[in-house]
Amino acid sequence: MKITFHGAAGTTTGSQHLIEINGQRILLDCGLYQGHREEAYDRNKNFHFNPAGLTAVVLSHAHIDHSGNLPNLTRQGYRGNIYATPATRDLCQVMLADSAKIQTADVEYANKKRARKGEPLYTPLYTPIDAEKCLRQFVTFDYHRPMYIGEGVQLTFIDAGHILGSAQVILDLHDLETGEKQRLLFSGDVGRGHNDLLRDPENATDIDTIIMESTYGGREHEMDTDSREHLCNILSAALKNRGKVLIPSFAVERTQQILFAIHQLIETGCIANVPVYVDSPLAVSATEIFRLHPEGFNDSVYQFLFDKRDPFGFEGLQLIRSAMESKELNGMEGPFIIISASGMCEAGRIVHHLKNNLPDPRTTVLFVGYCAENTLGWKLREGHQTVTIFGDPIMVRAKIEILDSFSGHADHSELMEYFHRITGPKKSVHLVHGEPLRSLALQAALQEEYPDKSITIAQRGQSV
Ligand SMILES: [Zn+2]
Ligand SMILES: [Zn+2]
Repeated sequence: MKITFHGAAGTTTGSQHLIEINGQRILLDCGLYQGHREEAYDRNKNFHFNPAGLTAVVLSHAHIDHSGNLPNLTRQGYRGNIYATPATRDLCQVMLADSAKIQTADVEYANKKRARKGEPLYTPLYTPIDAEKCLRQFVTFDYHRPMYIGEGVQLTFIDAGHILGSAQVILDLHDLETGEKQRLLFSGDVGRGHNDLLRDPENATDIDTIIMESTYGGREHEMDTDSREHLCNILSAALKNRGKVLIPSFAVERTQQILFAIHQLIETGCIANVPVYVDSPLAVSATEIFRLHPEGFNDSVYQFLFDKRDPFGFEGLQLIRSAMESKELNGMEGPFIIISASGMCEAGRIVHHLKNNLPDPRTTVLFVGYCAENTLGWKLREGHQTVTIFGDPIMVRAKIEILDSFSGHADHSELMEYFHRITGPKKSVHLVHGEPLRSLALQAALQEEYPDKSITIAQRGQSV
């Protein structure tokens, strides 16, 4: 058996790992590498293997850094099955279509500049039609349903507790030439546990080889003993004086987590029954998909659904798709809550709402997720007094609040715990999906506790 790490090695995006056994080639994840435009374009465009020569593709979850290059793979000749859980497939339907739109718009923008300089023009990585065609190759089955996907290769998904449908991938591999058998675990992205919506990450058993994520190696999430109470205090203070609350949020998972939390706060009387607008077409589509997958949730949400109640719907909630309705929110008086993408405030409708409402001291902006350095969201979190939006300087008189307890990724201690709970020889461990310093920190901690095991950091292009 041979593993080659083609992406999310030395970085967190572009997850792609190739397994070779019995003359077959199985690709784990086909994620989009996200970085500087030109480097990212070349890296995503050109695979280091022949797409048509793959036997099977296995997808851990729907996030674009794991699924976002699939339409390019099928466009370049891959015709086989893409194995995923049912919820992952449904989320991919809306997320890949959205990604295709972004790819196309990005290329148009870059080409304007390239045309002026007389440089050759880019073609989009893939179009919405490629994204739709790629979905026809999905084959779905739920957690704990072992399936043969090749000669001597059996696949089982177990829950990763990271986003709806997210899976850890277990491959039972039987080398037909040597007779050797082994069990490989690919962690995908690992959740924190104790999630409002999802089950805890499951424990894999009898594992020989592990490909494991290391996003938060050496980093601990802030302790937040009662995030629900914290959220209640922030919202009730903000909604006094007819204030508006803007919540920049990732469209998938975070938006639904926030909706469920607000629903419960209204039910228990913690906050008034004010209008709540979800203003993002992708978030609206994702929320509809969440309602269709009771099998993906923890017991409390499952019970909610079986009592014929909608965790992501309540009186006062309005889902907004059209740009017209979004614009109408500008002229309306508070109090109300707007949840809108993107989470980092770099694009999407949230940017318009910020431009209109940041100068008003009655406004509260509540951050519930990570913002990369130098994004608009990061500047607001850092407390900048003036920000530039669409070329105009905007005064920040709004109140900025931060609630960081909603992370979808296990932190250092939680990753260590996750590793402890895996049973079996765990002879070799390859760390992926981490910036170099994060992977190094996790490697050092694991090696100290397990001196007899081989724990290495995967390098891009490296085969083991
Ligand atoms: Zn993820
Ligand atoms: Zn990821």
